[in-house]
Amino acid sequence: MIGLETLSKYSTPDVEKQRMIDDLLHPQLHSLVKSQYDFCESKAYYIEPTKYCPKCLRKYHEEENFCPECLVSLKHIKDVDIKLIKSDPQFKFIKSNEFNSFEEIFTQENKNRIDEFDFSTKDYNRILRNIKKSSITTFDNLIRSNEILLDDLKLFDKILLYAKSFVEVDFKSYGQELGYFSFNRITLDDRQTVSLQITTLIHELAHFILKEIMTEILCTLLDCSKNSLIESIAVFILSYSPFTQLIDEYSAHNCEGRFTLYGYQDYSSFIQIEKSLDGEMTADEIEITKSIGNNFSVSIKDILESYIDWDLRSDIKDQFLKDVIDEPNYEMLALENCNKLTDIGFLKAIWLIVSEGFSAASQNRDKLEMYETNF
Ligand SMILES: [Zn+2]
Ligand SMILES: [Zn+2]
Repeated sequence: MIGLETLSKYSTPDVEKQRMIDDLLHPQLHSLVKSQYDFCESKAYYIEPTKYCPKCLRKYHEEENFCPECLVSLKHIKDVDIKLIKSDPQFKFIKSNEFNSFEEIFTQENKNRIDEFDFSTKDYNRILRNIKKSSITTFDNLIRSNEILLDDLKLFDKILLYAKSFVEVDFKSYGQELGYFSFNRITLDDRQTVSLQITTLIHELAHFILKEIMTEILCTLLDCSKNSLIESIAVFILSYSPFTQLIDEYSAHNCEGRFTLYGYQDYSSFIQIEKSLDGEMTADEIEITKSIGNNFSVSIKDILESYIDWDLRSDIKDQFLKDVIDEPNYEMLALENCNKLTDIGFLKAIWLIVSEGFSAASQNRDKLEMYETNF
């Protein structure tokens, strides 16, 4: 591919990822399992509180009516089924200009805008911030409107509720796939263990966030509002060629590893794309593609860490070690590339993805129109 190999001079080690993998390969250095204490004996005398103060969130027993600290009346702790909550998350990107058809988008003027690529690291960071802000706002509204005591939720429900501030999540109990993402909706198989459901959720969420980043990059370059037309082009760009498919898939696998444990990811979809290659990419080009995927996964991790902080991550890892009996797949660890591109190199990579993708999209209107009906 033109220009891909020249990106190797912008390669730099992804130290954090390297350290996470080292920790896994040499677990004697840090024990991942927390020591457990047995509180069972005292539990027999413990009566569950049934009310809480909506202000300070302190819990009270049934006979209490007011919080003496905050001087407000208490509410009953509700039993909320997180699976049933509808969230309708919105990620807006508003500019004064909006395109109403693909004809209006694929003009020579817009093609020039994409190729000239007036886009900086500052623009990129603004996009990440925008996505973070929208998801946190939705998350906060979900907690308030459903009167949820976040700390009381089980680990899976915490992650599920947070995922719902990005996408709608459906459940299935059929088929082989652990889960999939398509058009702002994740479908998850609930027959899996809790930790596998969490891993799958994070993997599919990473696909969604990359689609969102790509959409907002296009909006920034074309100086337009986000709508289903632009979103369809972003979906097209991330799926039309092995180059972008590999980036998308590698980034999702990596996010999974960063939030759970490296060595337990299911690389099958990545390997499948790699196998389907018919000499289009050299081994070096595939490595650069992985590095680009690492850059995106660092951004996605940064977004997800607004809520999934160090404590929650270590809870996920503990849950994982409890559920999973398989040994980590060290053979698969060989697939890990621990480099990412410098800021300048990453911008060049985005330029390559967007300029080639936009031009290919302009010649595939049928596909775009089909995608658009799904939004
Ligand atoms: Zn109170
Ligand atoms: Zn995937």
